[in-house]
Amino acid sequence: MSDSAYRGRLAPTPSGFLHLGHLRTFRTAWERARAANGTLVLRIEDIDFERCRDEYVVAILKDLRDSGLDWSEGVEKGGPYGPYLQSQRMSFYRAALSRLVESGAVYPCSVSRKKIAESGLLARRKFDFMEPEYIFPPQFRVDFPGGDALSDIYSANWRFKVPDGESVKFSDNFFGDVSFTAGIDFGDFAVWRGGFGPMYELAVVVDDANMHISEVVRGADLLLSTARQILLYKALGLEVPEFYHCELLLGDDGRKLSKSTLPKNSPNIIRNRK
Ligand code: GLU
Repeated sequence: MSDSAYRGRLAPTPSGFLHLGHLRTFRTAWERARAANGTLVLRIEDIDFERCRDEYVVAILKDLRDSGLDWSEGVEKGGPYGPYLQSQRMSFYRAALSRLVESGAVYPCSVSRKKIAESGLLARRKFDFMEPEYIFPPQFRVDFPGGDALSDIYSANWRFKVPDGESVKFSDNFFGDVSFTAGIDFGDFAVWRGGFGPMYELAVVVDDANMHISEVVRGADLLLSTARQILLYKALGLEVPEFYHCELLLGDDGRKLSKSTLPKNSPNIIRNRK
């Protein structure tokens, strides 16, 4: 057990094999926890059960170990804040959704991605490596007063209402001062998919807070997500951790590496490791 206050985490999503970008980020997280004599937690982010597979979990654990990375809490180790598989943490996410619904921070929304794209409202891209994305058109917002107006909140889709025009600022331990403006850089975002469960933004905030993570180390492709998550921490009355966003490893075409877009023969992907 570590007596340092530093608590970091590795949070892979088992929807594919790891690529070098993931491993570089995980190494940085591991190094920072080690340098602080802190605790490193391994949490598997497997809420997307349509894309996540057990065989990827096995491959990811092996790749982490083969890369010389270890952790002292979480999957295979246990600890005080388990379970460490998101698929087993549904009660935490449900409790968080019910608080957001109660306070009116979210509203029920079933507008399709197609309809959002059709509106053509593009978010400003503050960094070149950011993928273009659409802003949820404010005219589709639903006036939801909060409270328990819906009997079964878990079977509806919910979207977080962002404070338009407000800057979300944070001091990143790698990038320095970062600021995004709600309504310009990002819009209302989905937090719950009816019948399935939480979206990434909600699950990760609930878990990082519940696991007392003091510094979140992740790729710079998630900078904008961090801004959304800060709004969620605040809406849920949770303490915001520190952040360290790692520079992205880019492919030969200058685009960020991704599980789904990498060319088949890219040397940067770790495929089918046994
Ligand atoms: N599970 C996410 C991923 O693999 C990372 C989440 C995070 O660092 O917040 O991309």
